Amino acid sequence: MTSRKRSRDESDEVNEYSTLEDCIASPTKSAKVRGVLSDLSPMKVSRNGNKYFKGMLTDETKSLEFVGYDKRKLEELNRCKDSSVTFDNCEIKESKIGSGMDMCVKSTTSISHSPKKINPIVHNLGQLQQLQEYEFVTLSDVKVLEVPDAMKVSSGFVQDVIISDAGGTGTLTLWDDDRDKLEVGKFYKLNSYLRVKIFNGQKGLTPPKSCGLSFQELLSGVTVKAVSICVNKHVCITCEGHVNLKSICIGQCTQCFAFQRLGEDKEPIAVELLISCNGQDYNLKASFPEIKSIVDLSDNDLSDNATEVEIAGALLMASPFSLTFKDNRIIEEINKLLI
Ligand SMILES: [Zn+2]
Repeated sequence: MTSRKRSRDESDEVNEYSTLEDCIASPTKSAKVRGVLSDLSPMKVSRNGNKYFKGMLTDETKSLEFVGYDKRKLEELNRCKDSSVTFDNCEIKESKIGSGMDMCVKSTTSISHSPKKINPIVHNLGQLQQLQEYEFVTLSDVKVLEVPDAMKVSSGFVQDVIISDAGGTGTLTLWDDDRDKLEVGKFYKLNSYLRVKIFNGQKGLTPPKSCGLSFQELLSGVTVKAVSICVNKHVCITCEGHVNLKSICIGQCTQCFAFQRLGEDKEPIAVELLISCNGQDYNLKASFPEIKSIVDLSDNDLSDNATEVEIAGALLMASPFSLTFKDNRIIEEINKLLI
């Protein structure tokens, strides 16, 4: 078996793989692989003074970490972030840690956009036992069940947080600066890749030390308490008076009472929402597409001719939903939560 592997390494033929799972079955000097470029670091300097970059390629089956040394390749990859790419003539070699494989981007590797639509794999905690140690995992939304005190160990501080998702429960081990960031009872959207690790004989997950944990709080069971709708700086086209909103697309001037279409080039309306989640209130800004998705989750429908009262009513009556938002009070994502 070993000798057959070796002879394949030494041949010049390009091995083309349909999935990353097939690709990581054995090392090869020249592989053609496809995936979504799901992560990419800037240029870094190793302890030996070598420059390198790292990234992650993901498809429907696996996540594969890659490393490269050529600045021009990093520039090419920077133009492909979050899209499907084909790497032609890259090397697949045994990882220095664990039993998995790493991919090496050579200076002769050609990088191109792939027309193939790829839906990157999202794991859940129910799959943890089937995964190999050091394998990379992407989780969707998780709930934090337990946050014990961080412990001081020889390499720093460590905290074993217990999380759950739609598939089950598991341990998320956090190191040093990542400790004490997650709170019991809260939901989070984890943005970083996690590595499967065995601690004390048990499989758990931990963010790769080089990247740390990246996450956003996810508000779950959100209800709307108050809605304030305003027209975004619309000026009357005849008298330059102030235009009030009559429906999502129609406004009326407060001076000459002319009805007019609201500009299609910009967001016709801006909505301030007072939302409530677990007894805490938040003020958020929402755009019309976001309002629609909140309302759509409740099997309601909102037409473009909906009036202010209809918009506000649909929001106030919407069934509880979940969302993530950015620091500037802008909603990032709205969805139903299935945990
Ligand atoms: Zn007017």
